[in-house]
Amino acid sequence: MSSTTPICFLRVENPHHEIQDYQRGMPRWCPGCGDNAILASVQRLCRDEQLPPEKTVCVSGIGCSSRLPHYMNSYGVHGIHGRAFPIAQGIKVNRPDLAVFVTTGDGDCCSIGTAHWIHALRYNTDLTVLLHDNRIYGLTKKQASPTSRLGLRTNTTPRGALLEPLNPLTVSLGVTNVSFVAQVVDWIPDLLHDLVRLAYHHKGFALIRILQRCPHFMDDEFEPWVRNPDRVLVLEHPDGITLDPGLGKIYRNRQKHDLHDIHAARKIASSTDPIPVGLLYCNSDVPSYEALRRPAVPNSASAVARLLDQEFDKFTIWPAEHE
Ligand code: SF4
Ligand code: MG
Repeated sequence: MSSTTPICFLRVENPHHEIQDYQRGMPRWCPGCGDNAILASVQRLCRDEQLPPEKTVCVSGIGCSSRLPHYMNSYGVHGIHGRAFPIAQGIKVNRPDLAVFVTTGDGDCCSIGTAHWIHALRYNTDLTVLLHDNRIYGLTKKQASPTSRLGLRTNTTPRGALLEPLNPLTVSLGVTNVSFVAQVVDWIPDLLHDLVRLAYHHKGFALIRILQRCPHFMDDEFEPWVRNPDRVLVLEHPDGITLDPGLGKIYRNRQKHDLHDIHAARKIASSTDPIPVGLLYCNSDVPSYEALRRPAVPNSASAVARLLDQEFDKFTIWPAEHE
């Protein structure tokens, strides 16, 4: 190249993203399905945080909720039943620069995926996890899930579910290295959005159990709580959620809660009536797996070149006189 060859740079401005930049297709969920509200809260977060769509990944398993990645204009994996967590962990550990969301249902997470869920909590990989809990298998037409309430009549329990439901909150709060557990309901979109934002900013495995309405198969499951705001207990903390005056007039049943107190969190997590909503527990001191696994990577050009040389030298065939 001669010294007179012009050097050109293509300068690409950071685009400003509108909410439409994160939307794709027309969701095929039933009208009134709580999954719509959850999708909207993720898209709103992406817009607010200006996440580049090409650096955002949504991972799911199987179920109604697991269709969410299809409706996000981002990268996504509609994975294998119960296997959203290991897929998401693999992505995040190898590409910590990406924002990774997991969307899973009560059947996907708390039945076939239980082992992955427990170990993902322990690994504390930096993921934002949305557990859509409608207390039923919706996609496979009203089968009892692990969170179905006692006595619920379903296609697999026509005389009523025989077992007490599994509580995803108390289970999560019992796992080593648990670092963020929250609960919210799909019918309070501002609280849903606040908790998704807190979970996104938490550097670790942030699990939000979202009580999600399934009008098709469970039309009145949460109706008493929807109709009576006093049966929703809002947990307030300056580092968690606080209600604005408008919502505060509706949701008057509020309690100050120390979100660092795991014993208090476990006690509150056991309540089903009133339904507690808010950040139950947060511990930002638990290191993520990727932070433990990756030592500080030298990023100077000479350090990277030296490491590459070391790797290439392993494959060098030296001449005989070198030995
Ligand atoms: Fe939503 Fe239930 Fe319809 Fe599935 S079956 S899309 S969970 S309302
Ligand atoms: Mg379900």
